[in-house]
Amino acid sequence: MAHVLVVGAGIAGDTLALLMERDGWTVTVAEIAPALRTGGQTVDLRGDSREVLERAGLLQQALDCLVPQRGAAWIDTRERRLAEMPVEAFDGRGYVSREELLRTDLARIIHEATGPGVTHRFGETVETLQDTATGVRARFRSGTTQTFDLVVGADGAHSRVRALRFGPQENYRKPLGLAHAWFTLTERPATPPLHGWFLTHNAPGRRAVEARPGHPGQQEVGLTFAADTLPPRHDRDAQFALLERTFADVGWRTAEFLAAARQADDFALDTFDQIHVPCWSTGRTVLLGDSAWCASPLSGLGTALALRGAAELAAALRAAGAPGDTARTPAALTAFEQAMRPRTTSAQQLPPGRVTSMAPKSALGIRINALAMRALQSKAARPLVRKAFAGSEHGRTDTPATEPRTTPAI
Ligand SMILES: Cc1cc2nc3c(=O)[nH]c(=O)nc-3n(C[C@H](O)[C@H](O)[C@H](O)COP(=O)(O)OP(=O)(O)OC[C@H]3O[C@@H](n4cnc5c(N)ncnc54)[C@H](O)[C@@H]3O)c2cc1C
Repeated sequence: MAHVLVVGAGIAGDTLALLMERDGWTVTVAEIAPALRTGGQTVDLRGDSREVLERAGLLQQALDCLVPQRGAAWIDTRERRLAEMPVEAFDGRGYVSREELLRTDLARIIHEATGPGVTHRFGETVETLQDTATGVRARFRSGTTQTFDLVVGADGAHSRVRALRFGPQENYRKPLGLAHAWFTLTERPATPPLHGWFLTHNAPGRRAVEARPGHPGQQEVGLTFAADTLPPRHDRDAQFALLERTFADVGWRTAEFLAAARQADDFALDTFDQIHVPCWSTGRTVLLGDSAWCASPLSGLGTALALRGAAELAAALRAAGAPGDTARTPAALTAFEQAMRPRTTSAQQLPPGRVTSMAPKSALGIRINALAMRALQSKAARPLVRKAFAGSEHGRTDTPATEPRTTPAI
């Protein structure tokens, strides 16, 4: 039976594993983390996400995990509202929508739907990949070697498969000038409740602190700041020291969040980058998801593109006769790219001012941002914004880590 190696058990990797198993492939998923990775903020169930999950028979499970939310609010250090956008603002289809679930839950639902035809190898990754006459020979970190009919690099923006087969990350990375730390805070009796609101506090100097509802008894926290490079990923002490220096004078609940970051088991810190790879496949190796086309969390489209990409890749392989006949696999990879490329190109075109409005430089910029949020909901602007949300809905899933795609440049 045809055998595919999927590197990375994220949304893209596990969705593909699930769909290819259903098509009759034998699937091995190599995930570098010791277990399925948890954490992340909310993902909304519109456009491509809804469609792909529905077709996979997983939509109802996702809907059962919705996070009750009341809206987004921009606040000052004393938690006074500078602006707010309730869930109802655009018929429940605005910045924060009625139908959002945590990335953790979505990843778990997809992962648990995979059957016995999928073998997950946690704590595992590839060391080398080599084309052979019949497939791709992978040497794993554990020391084993195996030949596959197809290798899929679904290992995220810092992809090792891409590095092995397409060259170093610097060739493909476009930093957007911001970095973002995120983690889950477990509420204590003294923790201020959010009452269902996603709160953002901006501070001058391009800094933003966010807290949004998570699972009951938890809050999802984000810290955004200006940076193109970060301390090494394994150096947690240097990462915390950087955050503490950067956010020392920010106020609101920032000190509480900085302390909680050190306790969180899902703490992550990364730059907001885009990945631009001119061609996603070589021979029988193909990139999928953030490894191929990361549009950055600022796009609000990472999960939608991952789900859609997995569905398109599975469909292209099916159309080419796989897994029964894998001779046309390279052609199927080209067809997949042709189908998917227009979506990713469009997602990577962030509106002007997108990055600066996420974390304005000055107190004036913060005030203008709040005014813009209010103006967007005015009677005059509402029909236009509603149209823009509808237009961007095709494929949108993640709650953007910043304002809606309609935010004016400031
Ligand atoms: C834990 C987590 C939390 C996230 N939270 C957010 C969020 O809050 N907001 C947001 O906009 N985006 C977030 N993202 C990114 C978002 O999930 C992706 O943009 C989108 O879903 C596309 O997914 P992907 O599967 O292509 O990549 P990812 O979701 O990044 O998944 C890649 C997977 O590959 C694994 N991996 C990495 N390197 C290797 C390797 N060498 N060998 C084997 N496996 C490897 C990773 O551990 C991960 O499981 C998060 C990602 C993760 C993993």
